[in-house]
Parts: sequence; C-alpha cells; structure tokens
Amino acid sequence: MEFLSRHYNVLTLDDMVSRLEVGNLPPKAVAITFDDGYRDNATEALPILVRYNLPATFFVTSDAVLGKSAFWTGWLHRAVFSASEEILRKAYSTLIDSKPPVAHREEIYAALAAQVDCTHGVTRQQRLLTLSCVFSHMPPLSAPSDFMMDIGDLRSLVNSGMTVGAHTATHKVLAGLPEDDAREELSRSKRELEQALDTPIEHLAYPNGHVTSNVDDAAIRLAREAGYRSAGTSRRGVALVGTSTHDLPRQGINDALGFSDFVFKLEEARFSLLLRGA
Ligand SMILES: [Zn+2]
Repeated sequence: MEFLSRHYNVLTLDDMVSRLEVGNLPPKAVAITFDDGYRDNATEALPILVRYNLPATFFVTSDAVLGKSAFWTGWLHRAVFSASEEILRKAYSTLIDSKPPVAHREEIYAALAAQVDCTHGVTRQQRLLTLSCVFSHMPPLSAPSDFMMDIGDLRSLVNSGMTVGAHTATHKVLAGLPEDDAREELSRSKRELEQALDTPIEHLAYPNGHVTSNVDDAAIRLAREAGYRSAGTSRRGVALVGTSTHDLPRQGINDALGFSDFVFKLEEARFSLLLRGA
C-alpha cells in the first residue's frame, strides 16, 4: 500500500467509473477492492489503508455480514485448512469421486469449492450438507460466521471514507440462475445494505467472477437493471477507456504474492499493451 500510495493514482471506485465513462483516467490509475466481507478487511486492511490515506471498496455478501447466514466459501476454506489429512481425503473423495492429488490445501479448497459453485438449488444444498457432515470438526454451516464482518465493522469502513459495495445476498453464481432469483440476489443485497448503512450501495462484484462462465450477458443486464453503477468480475486484466463499466476486469492479489510479483501485476498489462503497440 505504501508503494501504491507513492507511485500510483489510487482513486475511489466511483471516481474511477466516472472517469472511465468519459475517457478521462489519469495515468497509473488504480482502484483497490476486496471481496466477500471477511473480518480481517476491517481489522487488518482498514488500518493500513487509513495510514496511507488510500480509498478502497469492500464488496460484501449481504446475508453473511448482516448476520442472516454463514458464508459457505469462508466456512469451507477454514474447514480445509483445519482438517486432518484423513478428513481431507474423505471430503475430496466423497465430492470428487477420486483421490486428492498431492496438492496444496489451497488447490484442494478450490476443487471442492468448484464442485459446489457449479451447481444450483437442491444439488448445491446437498453438496454443502455432505461437506458439513465430513468436516465434523467445524461449527455447523448455519452458525453465525465469526470470520465475517458485522454491521459495526461495515460502519467503521464507511466512517473511514471507504466504499461498501454488494456481492449479492448469498454469493450465488448468477450465470444460469433463474432470472427472478438473480434479480432477488442483486436487489435484496443492495436494498438491505442501504437500509443497514443508510448510504447508497452503487457498486457490485459478481460472485466467483473469475470463472468466465459465471458472468453472462444476462447477469450483466440484471446488474444494470438493479441500479448498480458498476460491476466487477475477477477476470484478470485492466480496465481501459471503452471497457464496459458492468464487466470490469480486475487483478488478483493475495498473500502468496511476493512484493516483486505484486509490482509485476501492476505493470504487466501496461507492458503487454506497449509490446502490442496499443
Ligand atoms: Zn466472492
């Protein structure tokens, strides 16, 4: 964040979108975003952002942060990282019908999450139920998620000048969802966050938007219709003048990246544009 504050133009997402619309982005423009609503966004990230006076947007899964339900992806992540080898093998073979490859737990988590993600309705519920039986060392999925932010955390973000955005109500993949359900996910999260925070919720991040097929034309249209000013995917890349404000690419940053890789991520798109002569 210190590096960003020294060498980049860190804008609010709102400013970024406005400037994108009129083709007036400053050089080295960056908008910082966080997805899902994990508590460490408030406890770890917020003080650092405040120290460097950087604005950021936090896309939160509204049911999870408003205390209505647990957040299954966070629950699963914690389950995989706290399970014994034996339980992990059992979970993998139950859902994927084969032995787990000798893989990092992050990869096993991604494989299990994908098995839940790619399904809707009853099948999704069944797979989550199966996982909650195998990961018996975990609190039940229906228990409140103590690793998610609550309304007090969200208020402290807003009071510090940060933006809260929506990430649907229950983190459902929108592509392929019946339109009424998708509409409900988009509008309910916007409405309930607005009521709880008394502030407009104008920006959206699509759940699991890193899989291209998770965001389709219908999802983009419904996001516009629900009244969002912008919507971000997790498709890797940078926004250029002309990029759709409701299909924004983003770069993925996580704690496995070292500093040099972080810098490279910031610059790789610019280099490839230069190389292509754009
Ligand atoms: Zn997410």
